[in-house]
Amino acid sequence: MAHKIDADKCVGCGCCKDACPAEAISEGTPYVIDADKCVDCGACASTCPNEAIAPVS
Ligand code: SF4
Ligand code: SF4
Repeated sequence: MAHKIDADKCVGCGCCKDACPAEAISEGTPYVIDADKCVDCGACASTCPNEAIAPVS
């Protein structure tokens, strides 16, 4: 399990990257989550202003 960013919804604000305790999120268009680093804490999903992040199996 990890979290994934929906490219169609990401507006590039960077809030998720700042919130991630595992440094799993990289800046880009869209921002990208490294599934190998993600610890599934959910902090990024909670902070995203556009509901662009959700858990994936
Ligand atoms: S918080 Fe949401 S909108 Fe902002 S960069 Fe992350 S995924 Fe994109
Ligand atoms: S769920 Fe947690 S560890 Fe995974 S990318 Fe989001 S903030 Fe980082």
